[in-house]
Amino acid sequence: MVGVLANGPGPFVLLRADMDALPVRESTGLSYASADTSASGEPVMHACGHDVHVVCLLGAVALLARARDEWSGTLVAVFQPAEETADGAHAMLDDGLASLVGRVDVAMAQHVLPLPAGTVSTRVGPTLAAADSLRIVVHGRGAHGSMPQAAVDPVVLAAMIVVRLQTVVAREVAPGDTAVLTVGSIQAGTKSNVIPDQAVVLLNVRTYDERTRSSVLDAIERIVRAECVASGSPRDPEVQVFDRYPLTDNDADVTDRVAAAFTAHFGERGGVLAQQSASEDFSDIPVGLGVPYTYWGIGGIDPETYRVADEAGRVAQDIPVNHSATFAPVIQPTLDTGTEALVVAALAWLGRA
Ligand code: ZN
Ligand code: ZN
Repeated sequence: MVGVLANGPGPFVLLRADMDALPVRESTGLSYASADTSASGEPVMHACGHDVHVVCLLGAVALLARARDEWSGTLVAVFQPAEETADGAHAMLDDGLASLVGRVDVAMAQHVLPLPAGTVSTRVGPTLAAADSLRIVVHGRGAHGSMPQAAVDPVVLAAMIVVRLQTVVAREVAPGDTAVLTVGSIQAGTKSNVIPDQAVVLLNVRTYDERTRSSVLDAIERIVRAECVASGSPRDPEVQVFDRYPLTDNDADVTDRVAAAFTAHFGERGGVLAQQSASEDFSDIPVGLGVPYTYWGIGGIDPETYRVADEAGRVAQDIPVNHSATFAPVIQPTLDTGTEALVVAALAWLGRA
């Protein structure tokens, strides 16, 4: 869904909010908690806080629409579906977003994070990780569990792959570079005395530059193929990459301009965002449109709750993070801060001097 608010000559500013939810059963106990199930029967919850993003962008558009005398230019509000499946931004581009909005000079987006509510934080350069998920099927030869000589055991093969993959980050990525490689699922077999004929490994990779990204993905494929050879696997493995998220690499000039506007408006509530290992498909939109962009974080945790956890050194344990069934951004000052942040950032381009 795209709204265009044309208000005279000037820059074209695109603000984007993602709208989708997650198949998580909400356990916040809030009166406005998500319904138990969606139409498809799966649990559903705004566990990533995208409902916050939608409300803030609606609020920002309403404020700017009411104050047309204060600015000049065009505001493009993009409400994007399917961020969590990494294909919503691309789908909007494929559906003709570029021709729909015409010109765009700068694109911006924000995310509510497990940081103190009322704060906004920006970062220049790589800010959110690129992400790649892989589904790997390795083949063995099934047999009776008592007759291993008749088998090529895919359980052992998959186990060797998992162990060897631990060396990719430890031994192949330069100490100054960052990468995360997690094997999130390994599945094989049905019974203690049956050697199965295949194993399926699901893994997830996070990186912050394309060189590291491609070298890690190459290393995974090399190791998988080599372990299959080492085991005498009867068939080549199948390696499928899915849920690919682009790197979010904030433009320095755009970010500096937004950060200066935040400092002027928010004072000490503005800060620097730490590099995040989460991922986003927002940058597909500005990259697809060929325009610079920035992406910032807003806090969603009650400041006093956060302070207590921080002083006890227990933020990681006590503060629910995005995608948790108990993630519950406080309504205020989260919504006011996110709404103001969008308005302030947009006015950094659209405001009358
Ligand atoms: Zn999410
Ligand atoms: Zn999200």
